[in-house]
Amino acid sequence: MTGIPHVVILGGGFGGLSTANELRNSLSESQVKITIIDKKDWFMVGFAKLWILTGTRTFDESIGSLNELSKKGIDFLKDEIVKIDLNNKNVQAKSHDISYDYLIISLGAVLAPEKIPGLVENGFNLYDHEKLSEIHEKLKTIDSGKIAISIMGMPYKCPPAPFEASLLIDSMLRKLGKRDSVQIDFYSPAPITLPAAGQEVSKQILELINSEKIVFHESCKIKSVENKKMIFENDQEADFDLLLAVPPHIAPKVIYEAGLAKDSGFIKINRDCKTSFDNVFAIGDVTSLPVGEKLAVPKAGVFAEGEGLTVAKNIVSKIQSKEESELFDGKGGCFIESGRDTASLIEVDMFTNSTPSTDITESTSENLSKKIEFEKERLSNWL
Ligand SMILES: Cc1cc2nc3c(=O)[nH]c(=O)nc-3n(C[C@H](O)[C@H](O)[C@H](O)COP(=O)(O)OP(=O)(O)OC[C@H]3O[C@@H](n4cnc5c(N)ncnc54)[C@H](O)[C@@H]3O)c2cc1C
Repeated sequence: MTGIPHVVILGGGFGGLSTANELRNSLSESQVKITIIDKKDWFMVGFAKLWILTGTRTFDESIGSLNELSKKGIDFLKDEIVKIDLNNKNVQAKSHDISYDYLIISLGAVLAPEKIPGLVENGFNLYDHEKLSEIHEKLKTIDSGKIAISIMGMPYKCPPAPFEASLLIDSMLRKLGKRDSVQIDFYSPAPITLPAAGQEVSKQILELINSEKIVFHESCKIKSVENKKMIFENDQEADFDLLLAVPPHIAPKVIYEAGLAKDSGFIKINRDCKTSFDNVFAIGDVTSLPVGEKLAVPKAGVFAEGEGLTVAKNIVSKIQSKEESELFDGKGGCFIESGRDTASLIEVDMFTNSTPSTDITESTSENLSKKIEFEKERLSNWL
């Protein structure tokens, strides 16, 4: 490597921004050149989507601009990546051709509603930022009937988020005085609410949603969706008036084309977040990091952030000709709002013990303040 090493980061989400900032905070512009490429020029903390959905926030109030990165000496290119050429250490975007010394792939997961026949025509994608205002209008005007929240593929981003969505929708309808005439059903392919968090936390989440009369339907593996009707693999059916679905997640097309993952899977990594290519790392939702035989690190911003820190520290060591020693610690927490101006924190420690440990705190107003602070910190520290 001659000259200033060039670190290219694909994706300006949780993982990409965490990595870029840690690198820039550790090394000056004469020590490392950092470029982030993303097809959009804004970042939003995922849970703000639920505030837009329930109408306590607008989209514009929830985003930070990636164009701010240049002020910190991080180059930002708004462009769509179309090819990752790992053999020639080069990335092609629609209008740019970029060579790298180190590559960090943090392209996230793609939502694939088209994988479920009839979903696009008959339901809403709960995670699609472009649909949030439309869903909000539907929620405001529904006077009676059934709202179905349905998880249609595993793994999906932020496992507690759809439960939180059901609680916030419950709260919204209660405030509008319509909750008694609207039924809320929750459908999941899993036998318990949060498999990654274990039986005890799952039981507590179940109790929380049941306490608001939200009905949990377990082991409902979706086959197709028709007009106001879901059909499951066991041929059972469930009807709805408004369907909010968490669609299957896959990796971006460029990942499969580069041979980094197979079928509809994700990039397999270990705790060092390395790929099989020299100086090429993968982090966040685009990856699959196994925990024991059956589990994987959940797809969540806190974990993408932690993996980004790990990779950044190891790249700093390499650039300074020191030994790389960091492994991702697998620790993180996700807030879950109750819809009654309080929140609980689900704390996860994936690797310290032989099995992952999880805990859920009491639902308090302090935790809700911490959740709001979590978002503020990310937006102000990273952008
Ligand atoms: C409703 C909801 C609530 C959530 N709540 C929480 C929470 O409370 N706590 C938590 O930790 N996590 C939460 N999450 C999950 C969190 O948002 C994701 O896990 C996190 O964003 C993953 O980070 P990432 O960097 O891997 O991917 P992302 O943040 O998705 O970033 C990937 C980036 O890559 C870009 N990209 C993809 N393909 C291309 C391409 N071909 N060319 C150019 N750019 C491309 C995308 O535009 C995107 O900006 C929530 C998610 C949702 C939807």
